[in-house]
Amino acid sequence: CIMEKMYVCSFNEGKKEMTDLLGLKGASLAEMTRIGIPVPYGFTITTEASRKYYGDGNLVDPLLEEEIRSKLEELEQVIGRRFGDPERPLLLAVRPSAPVRGLTLGRSILDVGLTRETVEPYARSLGDRTFALDCYARLIRTYSTAAYGMKKELFTDIVNGRMAASRVSSAADLSEEDEESLVQAYEELVRGANDGRFIPQDPKTQLMDAIVSGFDCWQAPEIRQWKKACGVPEDLGIAVTVQAMVFGNKDEHSGTGVAFTRNPVTGEKQICGEFFRKAQGEDISTNRAYPGSLEKMTAAFPEAKKNFIQVCNVLEEHYRDVQSVEFSVDAGRLYILQTASAGRTAQAAVKTAVDMVEEKLITRREAVMRLRTDQVEYLIHSRFSREDEDGATLIARGTPASPGAANGQIVFTAEDARQKKSRGISTILVCRDIAPEGLSGMRYADGVLTAAGSRSIYAASLAGGQGVCCVTDCPDLTIDEEQGLLRIGDAEFARGDYISISGFNGRVYDGRLTVQPPYDWDAFGKIMSWADSFRHLRVRVNADTPEDAALALRLGAEGVGLCRSERMFYNEERAAVMRRAVLAPSPAVRREMVQKMMEFQIRDFTEIFRIMCTRPVTIRLLDPSLSVFLIGAEDDFRTMASEWGISEEEVRERASSLYEVNQTMGERGVRVGIEYPDILSMQAEAIFRAAAAVAREMEKEPDPEILVPFVVSGRELAQVKKLIRDAASRVREEEERTVEYRLGSMIEVPRAALTAGEIAEEAEFFSFGTNDLTQLVMGLSREGSGHIVRKYRERKILDRDPFLTLDQEGVGRLMMYAVEAGRKTRPNLKAGICGTHAGDPDSIDFCSRIGLNYVSCQARQVPVARLAAAQADI
Ligand code: PEP
Ligand code: MG
Repeated sequence: CIMEKMYVCSFNEGKKEMTDLLGLKGASLAEMTRIGIPVPYGFTITTEASRKYYGDGNLVDPLLEEEIRSKLEELEQVIGRRFGDPERPLLLAVRPSAPVRGLTLGRSILDVGLTRETVEPYARSLGDRTFALDCYARLIRTYSTAAYGMKKELFTDIVNGRMAASRVSSAADLSEEDEESLVQAYEELVRGANDGRFIPQDPKTQLMDAIVSGFDCWQAPEIRQWKKACGVPEDLGIAVTVQAMVFGNKDEHSGTGVAFTRNPVTGEKQICGEFFRKAQGEDISTNRAYPGSLEKMTAAFPEAKKNFIQVCNVLEEHYRDVQSVEFSVDAGRLYILQTASAGRTAQAAVKTAVDMVEEKLITRREAVMRLRTDQVEYLIHSRFSREDEDGATLIARGTPASPGAANGQIVFTAEDARQKKSRGISTILVCRDIAPEGLSGMRYADGVLTAAGSRSIYAASLAGGQGVCCVTDCPDLTIDEEQGLLRIGDAEFARGDYISISGFNGRVYDGRLTVQPPYDWDAFGKIMSWADSFRHLRVRVNADTPEDAALALRLGAEGVGLCRSERMFYNEERAAVMRRAVLAPSPAVRREMVQKMMEFQIRDFTEIFRIMCTRPVTIRLLDPSLSVFLIGAEDDFRTMASEWGISEEEVRERASSLYEVNQTMGERGVRVGIEYPDILSMQAEAIFRAAAAVAREMEKEPDPEILVPFVVSGRELAQVKKLIRDAASRVREEEERTVEYRLGSMIEVPRAALTAGEIAEEAEFFSFGTNDLTQLVMGLSREGSGHIVRKYRERKILDRDPFLTLDQEGVGRLMMYAVEAGRKTRPNLKAGICGTHAGDPDSIDFCSRIGLNYVSCQARQVPVARLAAAQADI
């Protein structure tokens, strides 16, 4: 390994860090050799060599051939056999070794070095012609599939035919005649498919061609496509390993297997796997061997099994991770062919990480880094088993909007969901979209499926907050509410039919899939508490109800980062009061209604303060245009008119004077408070009265924060601030108690970000509303642009949905500017994020890097956010 460009590297010259040069397999074989694991010896043709080959127009450099020759001689010496020798040949296994994970190339060529001519003397010297023919048949099969691109199944069909004719159920039991006829049939097949061409009958040419086929496979169109999709650089080469063959197919004392050093499903510390008698690795995937458990190996090969357990322990200790190990036993002797970090379920990932910390194999930091956020998401929500999903009938696909899984009868109204729930029937609420009025009923459903929208719409965020799984943006749905029918493509479902939805992958299934309960146990709590010790970013919850707040607290939230106070009016009783306040015919009626609103608010805030105790609770003043409460309220207009003794026309006129063409940019946010100061003062007073009451009751101070939405200038905030201060003094006098609070500004309009320095003169904290900020920065509606985002992603204009993952170059840059400008004015300015992005791991990483103090996400996302925040800091 001293040459500047290294083309070939013996196993004893490499190590695990050299994956760029040796590929994953080559590096792992070198590492195992280095630490004394019994690996069939060999060498690796490096990625440098393949790059030179591609650079030279797919020609092999003579220097490479020379190096291979010299390494081959070295290998002959180690093994004590000569390559090409007719009687005691050194046979080789040639395998491509990619430097990146996630790809199964499956192009190994076995028994290289055997020819039609040498197979007979080889058979004679072994005294076993069946085995020699089996080796030659394997060479033809593996060579032709790897180098000529022939389909494996063509060969499998021939073997299966032979097995059927000879009435045996394993290839291990084929006779000498069977093997002879296999070789013949293979030869005919290969010649027939390749214009008479057959595999080279000269061992050296065989070897070089096998190596070249390894290089070539890296340029195959399907692999190129995969590399492109995974962002693997075009010029990354591939390595090829060349190893002495070991023969799991040799005799009754031979076999092959795959094992895991710990159970990859449960995480139990117990070696498990499968062992196949008298077989080689390729037989496993083609079902040509009898499968058996590792226990069977103990009975047949006690010595090899004992060694294997030792090796597994050494490998796990060395790699400090669960390994999946491929091995062979050749006439009773154990050889390890491959080791790699094992794939595992979410449950196993948690258990093995925690166990390994306790065994002092890894540090807490490493354990936290090993857990993936998608695994955490999976662990805390109900889910379907993979087998059930695979076997179910998929009827539609949408956007996963809130994780979890649910089955239930189709219902089209929240009222229907409520009634069924009272009878213990689970439901999936199916609707075109969800209007604010429908939101309160959503909690009665087990899942929500909507045709329109994307994850950031109210429906999704509310569903997520309530732990209801949700799939949105499913354009194939047509809903005929009157007939009680749901059509998906040609299929028709009636109200009451069962469907199942997965909020993990957006899939909708026919019928009733079993829902598995969320996984919740000690090991999970332990790893999450370790994660907490590494993060500076605080994690809060977006909670509008005491239920959300309590759930979030159980999941580890450290406060409420956003309580959207308007949502407390999303039920008919309260919406009616709000409507009467807005349309009141006299100041007296208005005062009476505002007073009633205050009573509701005091009740809600009190509950939330009680749950959160001394933790911060950010309450946002009313945000939407109040005209949203007038939509679809025709019946109530009539009632109001008769209550107030005025004409229905008068009520309607007042309502239409409040109508806004574009509510998103209308009289909303802080503009509501400025237009209706009595409502704003009422909200502030409700917060202070609730805080004072809870402080008295708990003898501990709640920590309220008042958040003003949709601010565009410091002057707006200054006006609001005065009203809030007055409310605070009123409460102080009446309650004889001072309530400490902080006033903050949402930063969700680009102007607010650009004038953050001035806004910070009034605001003690910022909360980035990245839903509106993304909408306004990108000029993309947060509720109706799923189709644009989808097309833009297909056309590679957008990489991700900007409403799910922060657009760091655009929206992110504004945030960065605002934090900096804000802290220039007020160095201790606290800043957080409360848009949907606060639950997305990549966005959390960004928020951590730009110096935010907290993220505030949906209740169910709290554990994911805790882990992502820790990983951002490690
Ligand atoms: C936001 O805009 O990001 C936000 C949190 O507010 P809302 O979603 O209620 O508009
Ligand atoms: Mg907003």
